[in-house]
Amino acid sequence: MNIKILSRNTQLYSTKRLVEAAMKRKHTVEVVDPLKCDIVIERRNPNIYFKGDYIKDVDAIIPRIGSSVTFYGTAVVRQFEMMGAFTTTESEALVRSRDKLRSLQVLSRAKIGLPKTVFTNYSRDVSGVISQVGGPPLVIKLLEGTQGVGVVLAETKNAAESVIEAFNGLQARVIVQEFIKEAKGADIRAFVVDGHVVGAMKRQGKEGEFRSNLHRGGSAEAIELSDEEEIAAVKATKAMGLGVAGVDMIQSSRGPLILEVNSSPGLEGIEKATGKDIAKTIIRYIEKHA
Ligand code: ADP
Ligand code: GLU
Repeated sequence: MNIKILSRNTQLYSTKRLVEAAMKRKHTVEVVDPLKCDIVIERRNPNIYFKGDYIKDVDAIIPRIGSSVTFYGTAVVRQFEMMGAFTTTESEALVRSRDKLRSLQVLSRAKIGLPKTVFTNYSRDVSGVISQVGGPPLVIKLLEGTQGVGVVLAETKNAAESVIEAFNGLQARVIVQEFIKEAKGADIRAFVVDGHVVGAMKRQGKEGEFRSNLHRGGSAEAIELSDEEEIAAVKATKAMGLGVAGVDMIQSSRGPLILEVNSSPGLEGIEKATGKDIAKTIIRYIEKHA
């Protein structure tokens, strides 16, 4: 098959691993920088112009679109879809996953466990927002944040008010969320491909840190999910309409709660923690469906 990996950087671990896995299974594979693609639109006959030529006869694409290039990257994915290529991440699902508020609404409608969350339009009634999530301690998250940056634990009402007011003053949108203390600074990443969990790891924040992000100095180990966790991960991925997803959840006294469903989940952490060949699993998913 003719497979294109949409990635800005050929040197990234995930990109390299996907190229390697596709070649091992005897496919033709090329990394295409979506920002270097021109989208050619006319009546029927959709085309993509890349490095001086039209891209032809693509069977499947693997979008690895960073959140900073969602707008243009999604347009390129949509164009490949119009050209009849199978995609491991549909453009619609990609857009949905990049809107944190919309994602939480979609997950809530699908009856998936979530931490109680409030989103307001810079409400002046900060005290009301705080009591909506059951008072402190609570978590405040910048809507634009990733890798744990912009995720704040406020332990007192005063701290919560100051932080929310400061973000409001900067016109930075935030969500306010109940703090799940039973999670003890750990979260779970379940890697889902084609409706199945193909690997899972538990990430633990360093001492004294409630955020478990590896970028914040956390550590990871492979785990076996409970049935309840596995069902939650698969259901969340399905609700988001994703073929490949990294589902982040925390363990609470009322079961697993989903934090986020990632549409371009990195392969390095999960492959190293589990020793599994996730790249190959993704290529096999394409072989089955393209
Ligand atoms: P990001 O998308 O920036 O990684 P997250 O929402 O995943 O932000 O939060 C970062 C980390 O903080 C999570 O992996 C988890 O360990 C911790 N965390 C996030 N929300 C909560 C919460 N409501 N209760 C307890 N811990 C949380
Ligand atoms: N590189 C980030 C991470 O490892 C983003 C991709 C992902 O969430 O898997 O968390």
